[in-house]
Amino acid sequence: MIDLHSHTNESDGTCSPEQLIAEAARAGVTTLGITDHDTFKGYDQAVPFARDAGIELICGIELSTKLHGHSVHLLGYFLTTDRLTDFRTWILDQQAARRDRNIRLVARLRELGFDITLEEAEARGRGMTGRPHFAAIMVEKGYVANFRQAFDDYLDESAKGYVYRHEPQFAEGVRRICEAGGIASLAHPIRVKGDVPAMMGELVGFGMNAIEAYHSDHGESDTELYLGLAQEYNLMVTGGSDFHGAVKPGVQLGIGPGNLRVPEDLVEQLRASMQSA
Ligand code: AMP
Ligand code: ZN
Ligand code: FE
Ligand code: FE
Repeated sequence: MIDLHSHTNESDGTCSPEQLIAEAARAGVTTLGITDHDTFKGYDQAVPFARDAGIELICGIELSTKLHGHSVHLLGYFLTTDRLTDFRTWILDQQAARRDRNIRLVARLRELGFDITLEEAEARGRGMTGRPHFAAIMVEKGYVANFRQAFDDYLDESAKGYVYRHEPQFAEGVRRICEAGGIASLAHPIRVKGDVPAMMGELVGFGMNAIEAYHSDHGESDTELYLGLAQEYNLMVTGGSDFHGAVKPGVQLGIGPGNLRVPEDLVEQLRASMQSA
């Protein structure tokens, strides 16, 4: 079985890289893509475990980008990792921007009267500390009734505690991935706000060269639609469960909610496309 979309606890999954590989072996996944949000830390740690388990590991990442003011996820796959140096540096810059935002967010929340420190938040979120971690602390300390209120009253873009964070534009994400020799795939297109078929020309114009047709959130007709777009725009096709472990108990590695079927020859097709490109 193939699964090209999964998360470790280096982003917002619950399995350590070692546990994720063990889970893949148990589930019968023979080719696994690790696509943590904005970091390679999970992939890097998983490499020796995958080798020992005889699992083919694909280097991936899921970037949070901005497109027409909305957040859009972009997958990057690197079938060869020898051109990744600049991309890794760029990723570290993005993480620094996140940490800088978190420092300003702590200051803002303290201004509003909350006793919250950066250390507390980073103890939970480590390299990927974000607003959900701050929200959890606010609930725990009794500053808000629940997670929803933490966002509605303080952390949402429209709320009084919000501070700006730089996020790359979709086009920049695509360009950086392609410059590193990667495959830039539109993640779970079903979740993109707006008319995806109508936007395809623009996205392909940025250099986007793949689309995630197979995903846990896609019904059969969605998959058909995205496969059709892939054909129309001559794009590669990717797919995976978007496994996050215990935080998304309904999604399993390989089979997603139960009926996910990623074609067995998907990676061979990607390799062939990249060679002929
Ligand atoms: P950050 O990357 O730290 O800016 O946090 C972004 C994350 O916060 C998103 O991935 C969501 O999980 C969560 N989030 C953002 N806005 C809201 C909201 N209005 N309500 C609930 N969760 C939100
Ligand atoms: Zn995630
Ligand atoms: Fe995503
Ligand atoms: Fe994901």
